[in-house]
Amino acid sequence: MLDILTDIKKGKGKTGDVDLLLELAEGVKDGSLCGLGQTSPNPVLTTIRFFKDEYDAHINERRCPALLCKELINYQIIPDKCEGCMLCLKSCPVGAISGIKKELHSIDKDKCIKCGTCIELCSGKYKAIEPVSKY
Ligand code: SF4
Ligand code: SF4
Repeated sequence: MLDILTDIKKGKGKTGDVDLLLELAEGVKDGSLCGLGQTSPNPVLTTIRFFKDEYDAHINERRCPALLCKELINYQIIPDKCEGCMLCLKSCPVGAISGIKKELHSIDKDKCIKCGTCIELCSGKYKAIEPVSKY
């Protein structure tokens, strides 16, 4: 079940994955001797029950509506908001951000490893970095 969920998060989900998860969840519930095992599939069952549309978006459109699955998003700098403070540039672990002081910065999406450092640092005063859907 973890492998299937991991694939879905990466945009590698397949038609039938949700049905397979439901089948496996029932199998785990029925085949477990203790309460821990019997309830272990509940997070999956609950998310399918209440967030089925999110599973569908991931599997059918390779899209994460919450913009949280790293393989399905990019980070981008909002031109109107960036003040060129250089905080993000200095903190990026892979040198994916370029720009000069007091000028608009930019993120090289091919270098970015989606560590989230820049968006966190810029979330206070300027809020100039946002996640966007890749597909
Ligand atoms: S931290 Fe935010 S405001 Fe500062 S340069 Fe980076 S994107 Fe621009
Ligand atoms: S998310 Fe991490 S790797 Fe990507 S640009 Fe921001 S700091 Fe650099």
